[in-house]
Amino acid sequence: MRFVCRFAPSPNGRLHLGHAFSAMVNSDAARRMDGRFLLRMEDIDTARCRPEYEAGILEDLAWLSIVPSGPPRRQSEHFAEYAAALARLEREGLVYPAFESRSEIARAVIEKEAALGHALERDPDGALITPLARNRLSDRERARRRAEGEAFVLRLDMAAAVEAAGPGLFWNEAQGVPEGPLRAVPADPGRWGDVILARKDVPTSYHLSVVVDDALQGITHVIRGQDIYPATAVHVLLQRLLGLPTPVYHHHRLILDVDGRKLSKSQGSHSIAALRTAGASPAEIRAMVDLPPQPTPST
Ligand code: GLU
Repeated sequence: MRFVCRFAPSPNGRLHLGHAFSAMVNSDAARRMDGRFLLRMEDIDTARCRPEYEAGILEDLAWLSIVPSGPPRRQSEHFAEYAAALARLEREGLVYPAFESRSEIARAVIEKEAALGHALERDPDGALITPLARNRLSDRERARRRAEGEAFVLRLDMAAAVEAAGPGLFWNEAQGVPEGPLRAVPADPGRWGDVILARKDVPTSYHLSVVVDDALQGITHVIRGQDIYPATAVHVLLQRLLGLPTPVYHHHRLILDVDGRKLSKSQGSHSIAALRTAGASPAEIRAMVDLPPQPTPST
């Protein structure tokens, strides 16, 4: 099977050193494996993503000699595909509309944390894990409020989804390098609660669209940062429910700032554009993130 990987930035800012590292780890692996390296713009948040950021990303990648095998796939052009996947889960009764406001959720989290005596984790997508259950409202009441146009999000009924998926959820994690030996990791999505699959304004979510696209683009190896490792359990669950293959995963180290924090888009000084303007060469960028010179393709 041919090796296919992807780099999937969100065009809501310029690339920083951490993104460039991820892109280089992907593109280096594809070169070593004589595989394909695809690009995907994760631009479902059409309010924050902008064409000029996409253009900036393409410019930075080209400057770094990171050449994708074809044009980027833009998620904003594929809402119908995500809607079809969502409809399938809805038909199976695994999705429900939830109407709790942010403040109601925050209050429920505080109450739950007080009862537990420790802080609740966050959804791997960054949202507060909702300790609110589907059975707070009847399905009929939910349908009525939805029909009346009340704001809602669509949530996965995690307990029902885990039951429908059945036992033995796991993924293969490549050790050391993306093409390294595999280790089976059991997936435990249940701890993430009823994750959000779509919003009223954005008819999909990161979790749903990433899973659909990895399958549609024939990705064999998902190579991404360690920060997304926890989300993989949710992705493996969605793959099982949607009848999609689970690729091999490799979660690479993160590039941290001098204080040991993850780089963020608001820290302009680490942007590739700023480093280039300051006179850094592509080879120096590779050295900054401890990568050896770019490998030559194996063919
Ligand atoms: N769009 C995500 C990000 O920029 C990447 C998600 C992934 O690689 O699965 O963090």
